[in-house]
Amino acid sequence: MQLCRYDDNKIGVVRDSFVYDVSAVLNELGSSSYPFPTCDILIKELDRLKVQIEALAKQSEPMPLSQVRLQVPVANPGKLIAAPVNYLKHLEEARSDATLHYQNKIEEIQRVGLFLKATSSMVAAAQGVTIRFPDRRNDHEIELVAVIGKTADRVTAERALDYVAGYCIGLDMTVRGPEERSLRKSIDSYSVLGPWLVTSDEIADPSGLELSLSVNGQIRQQTNTRNLVLSVQELIAFASSYYTLYPGDVLFTGTPEGVGPVQAGDVIRAKIDKIGEIEVAVR
Ligand code: MN
Repeated sequence: MQLCRYDDNKIGVVRDSFVYDVSAVLNELGSSSYPFPTCDILIKELDRLKVQIEALAKQSEPMPLSQVRLQVPVANPGKLIAAPVNYLKHLEEARSDATLHYQNKIEEIQRVGLFLKATSSMVAAAQGVTIRFPDRRNDHEIELVAVIGKTADRVTAERALDYVAGYCIGLDMTVRGPEERSLRKSIDSYSVLGPWLVTSDEIADPSGLELSLSVNGQIRQQTNTRNLVLSVQELIAFASSYYTLYPGDVLFTGTPEGVGPVQAGDVIRAKIDKIGEIEVAVR
């Protein structure tokens, strides 16, 4: 199932270029009050609600995708986790290019671990990226994103995919410089998610997905997720060995080689097999 959020807090199922309104499912989430849950309650209940969502989609009139405004597929992630240098060829380019590493020692992911991006940096593809420091180098990074569906505390890699609700496309936008990754990658609009959540039953194995990114029509990044250093399963095991993952937590799995600068006026297109494509304007 391809589940989207669109327009003014609506939920839809996407099939062939059409959206089917299933917003009535939100009535099943009950009402919460202060202090509100710090996870995404729709994602948390998704397994239970799938049958009802399918039924609602059947009763709903198709609306062309071109007529809706897609929103971030996960409304309330508690955290955005990201994997640095998780493709070997990106590790090599980061080490060999001073405009990427700024004298920071680039360690392997097994040594450097993961980092967090501020949830306030998150935007939908249609909102675009607003460059914050135009005098510095601002790069695109296409990444497969896994969205956590169940609370995961110290899970093994073997069981890790049981904890995934689904997948979407992510851009881990970055201003290059000497600061910590989490600062440079937490600028407003520097975490792009879209176009929708493809539930994990449609992607049994997240390795083996082709992904590519172009800027103004020119291919910059292209690889396959089989080239990840740590697989999605290993990343979930690694992350959950340090902190509990909650429904709606977002995991950026790392970017391949070919990162490069963008500036206002550019248009980024990012595509991943079995998920779809996003178009992102840079301002
Ligand atoms: Mn990244």
